[in-house]
Amino acid sequence: METSTLTDQVTPAAPESSSAPESPVVPASGPAVVAIIGAGFSGSLLALHLLAAGSPGPKIFLIERRGGFGKGTAFATGNPAHLLNVRAANMGAFPDQPDHFLSWLRRQPGREAAGPASFVDRGTYGVYLQQMMTAAACGPQAAGRLVLVPDEATALRRRPDGRLGLRLAMGREIAADSVVLALGNFAPELPDSADPALAGSPCWLGDPWSAAGLNRIGTLDSVLLIGTGLTMVDVALALDGRGHQGAVLALSRRGLLPRRHRPEALHPLPKPLSVAGPLSQALRQVRAAVRQAAESGLPWQTVIDALRGQTTGFWQGLPPDAKERFLRHLRPWWDVHRHRLAPMVADRLDRLTGSGRLAVAGGRVRALVPVRTQDASGRDTGPAVQVTWTPRRGGPEMTRLVRHVVNCAGPGCDLARSGGELVQGLLAGGLARQDPRLLGLDVDIHGRLLGGADGQNAPGQGLYAIGPVTRGTFWEITAVPDIRVQARNLAATVLTDLAARPNRTARPIADSS
Ligand SMILES: Cc1cc2nc3c(=O)[nH]c(=O)nc-3n(C[C@H](O)[C@H](O)[C@H](O)COP(=O)(O)OP(=O)(O)OC[C@H]3O[C@@H](n4cnc5c(N)ncnc54)[C@H](O)[C@@H]3O)c2cc1C
Repeated sequence: METSTLTDQVTPAAPESSSAPESPVVPASGPAVVAIIGAGFSGSLLALHLLAAGSPGPKIFLIERRGGFGKGTAFATGNPAHLLNVRAANMGAFPDQPDHFLSWLRRQPGREAAGPASFVDRGTYGVYLQQMMTAAACGPQAAGRLVLVPDEATALRRRPDGRLGLRLAMGREIAADSVVLALGNFAPELPDSADPALAGSPCWLGDPWSAAGLNRIGTLDSVLLIGTGLTMVDVALALDGRGHQGAVLALSRRGLLPRRHRPEALHPLPKPLSVAGPLSQALRQVRAAVRQAAESGLPWQTVIDALRGQTTGFWQGLPPDAKERFLRHLRPWWDVHRHRLAPMVADRLDRLTGSGRLAVAGGRVRALVPVRTQDASGRDTGPAVQVTWTPRRGGPEMTRLVRHVVNCAGPGCDLARSGGELVQGLLAGGLARQDPRLLGLDVDIHGRLLGGADGQNAPGQGLYAIGPVTRGTFWEITAVPDIRVQARNLAATVLTDLAARPNRTARPIADSS
């Protein structure tokens, strides 16, 4: 993809200790500048909506540290066994065109007959996003307005002129009026049970989405996968695809595996489903709806899908103690029913477990200790990890030596531990704060970051977040059908906030249509 070069709005970063007067990089009366950190689905779609707002619109810097704009973590995989877990008909990037992806897919050679209920490989979806970004970046609306920046954002500060200074790893600073964090999921945290030395061990793969990490695993090596959700399934399939023959154990507290999608498209429920009331009552309503659906010959998946549009509102209406109870008791069950496997993926998983190549167990990991192993003659045979866990169904503590441990425990949410340099700096500087239940960054219902000493939402602050990192406020904000709505709405919020500021030209979306 063509990448515009950084020009007028990027300056060498001032040294930390510099007391030299700041000169605004953009004249106060020029176009507003929006910097978006992260060009996965969330950041890319937000950029497209901001561009579509027409002229005069803000200048957009889209900053991405990995090669390529548009794909992000989920859709950069080149493994054809990694399938979307949402049907093609609902993966369109725009809320008012859910079949936008399907139409694109059917224009691709050899894909003309793609069905709406099909589950396409994630890499193809990445090509769809990347092509859209390329077209936008080369289109007339982008001229002078969209700058793709292949760099890592490392720090953010409030400048003396009131704007935001975004520091990049290459040593430059972008002066922006608004900054949007579209950072995606963070790698899972090191489990509390792990010896801290494990983090530096060659046996420890802390980032389950790193293909390079999986390359370290030898064909016959034994492997422990911590977690039994979608990420674990991705890793198990990737190992299988590489011809891995060693023993693989997947371990989580309950040992629950994601359920499977129905192969056919689902008919909607005969009557709209509305869930309300306290948590226990809502649970009873869902169970009753599942029973009624079964009586009409409809699978439980129909009920879960019918909840999608109301999950965010229901979550936002729950009192804090009910949210805690949901997270403690119901979340594992919700996750496996809500985030399901494409039938072909579920079939492969069944084959792996059926053949004994993958064992799945429930239990609490007690210790993960890096060790060195020896053969019968006492010769050093390399590093390994000793795993100790208590089985869920009781019985004596179990211990096993494995050559590798892959952390598939789900995205890291305690950002003080997993957030990386940029986010940890924001938290330390008070520009952002964590969600009270450590689910991500605290944002208001429009996506504005809550931070500062009083935590009050200040529209003029110019800081926003989008995507999975906002799950504390939105809960149902994991997949494309939800994030595409958030991207459209956040673009409107950013433009409205900018328009309310003096000397900044950016029209609200409503004015541009
Ligand atoms: C393995 C996996 C499979 C998934 N499968 C599906 C699916 O089938 N269907 C579906 O609807 N959803 C799926 N999802 C959910 C997915 O999270 C969302 O659909 C969506 O892709 C999230 O996009 P994002 O832009 O928020 O995050 P990401 O795609 O993670 O993008 C965030 C980007 O920000 C960049 N970044 C982070 N920090 C910085 C920084 N400091 N400086 C510069 N760049 C930075 C990262 O490099 C990354 O490219 C999957 C998620 C994962 C992890």
